[in-house]
Amino acid sequence: MRLYNTLTRVKEQFSSPDGTVRMYVCGITPYDTTHLGHARTYVVFDVLNRLLRHHGYRVRYVQNITDIDESILARARQLGRDYLELGEECCRVFFEDMAALRVIPADHYPRPTQEIPMIQEITRGLLAKGYGYIIPRGVYFRVKAVADYGRLSRLSREEMLAVAARQDDSDVDDPTKEDPLDFALWRRSAPGEPAWESPWGPGRPGWHIECTAMSIRYLGPKLDIHGGGADLIYPHHENEMAQSEAYTGERPFARFWVHVGLVSLGGVKMSKSLGNMVFVRDLRQKFDPDALRLYLIATHYRAGLDYQEADLEGAAARLEKFRAAVRRAPVAANPGWAEAATFRARFFGALADDLDTPAALGVLDELAGLGLGGNGEAARLLGELAGVLGLELRVGAGV
Ligand SMILES: [Zn+2]
Repeated sequence: MRLYNTLTRVKEQFSSPDGTVRMYVCGITPYDTTHLGHARTYVVFDVLNRLLRHHGYRVRYVQNITDIDESILARARQLGRDYLELGEECCRVFFEDMAALRVIPADHYPRPTQEIPMIQEITRGLLAKGYGYIIPRGVYFRVKAVADYGRLSRLSREEMLAVAARQDDSDVDDPTKEDPLDFALWRRSAPGEPAWESPWGPGRPGWHIECTAMSIRYLGPKLDIHGGGADLIYPHHENEMAQSEAYTGERPFARFWVHVGLVSLGGVKMSKSLGNMVFVRDLRQKFDPDALRLYLIATHYRAGLDYQEADLEGAAARLEKFRAAVRRAPVAANPGWAEAATFRARFFGALADDLDTPAALGVLDELAGLGLGGNGEAARLLGELAGVLGLELRVGAGV
């Protein structure tokens, strides 16, 4: 199949010679419930996971849970709660939401608070190789040590500075850093904040090093697919790639960087900091989770998705049509329907073209029309192909 690679900015042929796909997708920071933007990212990678498995690959899938960072600590302080307990509670809702959306669980959900030794080992390694330096604030990565820093995001230095300045815990203007773009590998904790002992004083890991440590620990020094939302390209993935390649000496760190377009509401990006979020837990009260899943994959994953409830209602009606076709299918289908192979080829052809789920769903629309018209084999094929997308069409199938 062909997959768009953010690193090269073109669709490339994807294969894995050893039959294994090492896939790492950046996960949630559990301080609130799952919003539609998260759901979209994890449903898209679930479709990719299912498709790769369908084609016989062994997928090793790791998705981290960022259980410590500025935002989760701030939220816990605000609520007067323990940050780990708050994180645990938000994770429970996240896993319920994912199960309702039929997302196949990842093999591992590592958490940085459980991976401190590996994070410190990589920090030590980067310091030893001259990629890091120590200041009172903590240990920082020296971006000037990477000749082609910026090759993933392709942003100019000015653009990078502007984005870095907008980060929650921005330290671009710290004059003790060698370069404003240098980022924390290890940060000294403020009094009262969680801290781990280290050779550089009590502190906690920087955000980007966490994913480097967890991906290397669980999947090795080279990934086949690294994914996440498009808002992670810079600074998170740029920095993760720079430090991973600096540490292991292997490049590219990930053969394919795959990014899912952002979800917006009224044209404004849905984000925790803006508070304009639509939560999966709320939508589940009103809509069948399969309709929500269908809605999320009805737009191509790289395009932006502006949430409108009418579109979700449309997805619910579409799902009902699919289900009605499957219900009407006679028990004994019409075996030997000559066109079945053509429909199957068109469906998989669409998915093989950079996961074109809108086109694949168009094939299912045609099959539903034929099924409703009495073609039992078309209805049977509809149910089978919908299953590849993780949609359950059998009546009363439940979760
Ligand atoms: Zn990450």
